[in-house]
Amino acid sequence: MNTDPDCVFCRIVAGELPAALVAEDEVTIAFMDINPINEGHLLVIPREHHESIATIPGDVVSHMTLISQWLTAALRASPVRTEGVNLYLADGAAAGQEVPHAHMHVIPRWRRDGFRFNVSRPPTPTHEQLEDMAAQIRAAATE
Ligand code: AMP
Ligand code: ZN
Repeated sequence: MNTDPDCVFCRIVAGELPAALVAEDEVTIAFMDINPINEGHLLVIPREHHESIATIPGDVVSHMTLISQWLTAALRASPVRTEGVNLYLADGAAAGQEVPHAHMHVIPRWRRDGFRFNVSRPPTPTHEQLEDMAAQIRAAATE
C-alpha cells in the first residue's frame, strides 16, 4: 500500500500518532479534526497515501464519499449541533491544502456560526463565456 513515513495522516493510519477515531474500515478511516472549524468537525481519509484526489483510485474516492455521506447523517442524528454540513476537500496548496494526504472535511454548520468562505468572485460571465469555459474543460477531461 502507498504510504509516506513523513505524512502525519499516514502515521495516524499506522497507529503511530493518536487520533479520536469515528469510523474505520479496510479502505478509509475517519477521525476528529485536531483544530476544528466547528465542534464535531471530522476528516475522512483513504488509508493509502495520495496527495491529490486525482491519483486516488475511483472506487476509493467513491468509498470516501459514501463514508462522508454516512457520517453527515450520523452528525445530524447526534447531539452535536448540526443544522447543516459542509463537505470540503482542498486539492493542492493553492486551494488551501495543508496536509498532503487527501482528506474530506465533514463540518457541522449552523446559521451565523461565524464560518464563511471568503468569496471574491470575478465579474459575472456571459453565457458565451460559460460555454467557452465548459468546452475547454470538456476537451481536457479524460475517460
Ligand atoms: P487542509 O487545510 O484541508 O489540508 O486541512 C488539514 C486539516 O487537518 C486541518 O483542519 C487540521 O486541523 C487537521 N489536522 C492536522 N493534523 C492533524 C492531526 N494530527 N489530527 C487531526 N487533524 C489534524
Ligand atoms: Zn499520507
